[in-house]
Amino acid sequence: MKLKGIFLDHKKNTAGSASVVLPTPKTVRIAMQQCAGAACDVLVKVGDEVLVGQKIGDSDKYMSVPVHSSVSGKVTGISELLQVSGRVCKCVDIETDGEQRYMPGLKAPQVSDKDSFCNAVRESGCCGLGGAGFPTHVKFGFDDTRFSVDTLVINAAECEPYLTSDHRTMLEDADSIFNGIACIKKYLGIKNVCIAIEKNKPDAIDLMRQKAQRAGADIRVTALSTRYPQGAEKVIVYNTTGRVVCEGQIPADVGVIVINVSTCAFIGQYMKTGVPLVSKRITVSGDAVASPCNVIVPIGTAFEDILWYGDCDPESIDKAIAGGPMMGTDLFDLRDPVCKTHSALLAFRHGGERERNRVQTACIRCGRCIEACPVGLMPTVLEKAFDKKDRQTLKKMKVSLCMNCGSCSYVCPAKRDLAEKNQLAKALLRT
Ligand code: SF4
Ligand code: SF4
Repeated sequence: MKLKGIFLDHKKNTAGSASVVLPTPKTVRIAMQQCAGAACDVLVKVGDEVLVGQKIGDSDKYMSVPVHSSVSGKVTGISELLQVSGRVCKCVDIETDGEQRYMPGLKAPQVSDKDSFCNAVRESGCCGLGGAGFPTHVKFGFDDTRFSVDTLVINAAECEPYLTSDHRTMLEDADSIFNGIACIKKYLGIKNVCIAIEKNKPDAIDLMRQKAQRAGADIRVTALSTRYPQGAEKVIVYNTTGRVVCEGQIPADVGVIVINVSTCAFIGQYMKTGVPLVSKRITVSGDAVASPCNVIVPIGTAFEDILWYGDCDPESIDKAIAGGPMMGTDLFDLRDPVCKTHSALLAFRHGGERERNRVQTACIRCGRCIEACPVGLMPTVLEKAFDKKDRQTLKKMKVSLCMNCGSCSYVCPAKRDLAEKNQLAKALLRT
């Protein structure tokens, strides 16, 4: 199979910036929907005192994870947050007391088998920290009678420009990553592990290889070419194992579980301490940020409360993105809170590189979008079908396989909104 995808300018100018824990903000706003699943019900009320690690939201749905307070302080309100999906979710607003008092009794979970491990992972509030937000206990809870999983792929590709939070996790938290791997291997009974890292992180590759050598022969480290979207699930499964995840399949169908490296590090920490997911490592970068950096902040911190550390004047920002420039989401309000799935805050002066000189012209049938698509779709045909609301062609040309990587829009000389239209087309088919 020919390796498709595109080459991007990495702009990873924060790779050498050690993460800094920022002071606790005066207030946080913690969203009740932070994973790709059901929203949580609020478990606290206005006036309640809360502690770090206290559960403040949960759901009775399997496809959901609880939400914990990231600070100690007092609940001042239950507000609403408009999400990029167009849905509104509830938020718990907390005024912090600056003391960061932890919930008493937090301790390493008692785990003896796969079920208790999956329960512990759910209770930790863990979901895919690379951006997808898929509840981790659901991924781990695969049916052993249906799937024969023999390989764990740790996704450390971090293929989007600017982002270095996974890179810093590998350098700063390597022991937690290997503890996470050991727990997953043990309780899920997975034999082989592959840590997959793009070649532009040589120090992380070296460190992971040293640690892997000490940890055991069945952990290998694979250096991947720096071709976007190397970190997409189907792409990384193929490039690390040679197995193809076909339409309608999940990686477990071909014997693989994929988890992001920061998710693995969190699991490793949680299994030792019992402290749930309450903070996030974030890359702060973009041409409006004078001092690009990596910071660790409580979940629920407003993006505007992070900018000062990067010497960024909010007035100078024309466009801000939560996440990477290819797959991140535009931030319309800098008061919005950091969620579990956010790994970067990018701030640009002139609309960012995606928007600069973006005058759309007619398709010149150059075929570059087709050449770039990692899953072999024909974006130009899909665009035409979407414009005509031709559901049959959209289905026939498999728009559902589009992973929204943005490669087609990026390479298009006519600056057509191909990836964006595919998202709308998928929504059209769902209605
Ligand atoms: S069609 Fe979808 S998967 Fe293919 S390049 Fe465009 S956004 Fe990526
Ligand atoms: S890359 Fe743009 S101009 Fe070229 S075929 Fe695709 S849509 Fe048309």
